[in-house]
Amino acid sequence: MHWIRLGNWELEVGSYIRDMSECLFCRIIAGDIKGAVVHEDNDLVAIKDINPQAPLHVLIIPRQHIATINDLRAENDGLVGSMFRAAAALAKQHGYSERGYRTVFNCNREAGQSVFHIHLHLLAGRTLNWPPG
Ligand code: 5GP
Ligand code: ZN
Repeated sequence: MHWIRLGNWELEVGSYIRDMSECLFCRIIAGDIKGAVVHEDNDLVAIKDINPQAPLHVLIIPRQHIATINDLRAENDGLVGSMFRAAAALAKQHGYSERGYRTVFNCNREAGQSVFHIHLHLLAGRTLNWPPG
């Protein structure tokens, strides 16, 4: 949790971070921490999840630091579209287009978001139950 002090006021700024070096995914994107990169372009990096929940579990991460999907703005619409198109392309590349796959954005605590830099999960390679746990 992060705080800013304004006179006598201490404000919680929650998932907003001031120093991107504190963000795990910013650090992976910057190359400080190794990730198994499966796709890279000007806007996105896709890495294998360190704790895979399916035979294919990839995280599609924008280079731009955006903490949660609550923080998306209209100017990010193209970026989010490109995240889904990257997911579909990776699913196709791995032979899952027709079998099926799942894409998930977790947002905040009750959804289990643990890294506060938006990422689209791509899961494939097994029957995925519904409703999710
Ligand atoms: P969230 O719970 O925020 O939706 O998803 C975060 C994901 O990041 C989790 O599935 C978790 O396994 C993955 N993760 C956490 N730390 C690392 C890491 O250092 N490297 C990689 N590749 N994935 C990570
Ligand atoms: Zn970040």
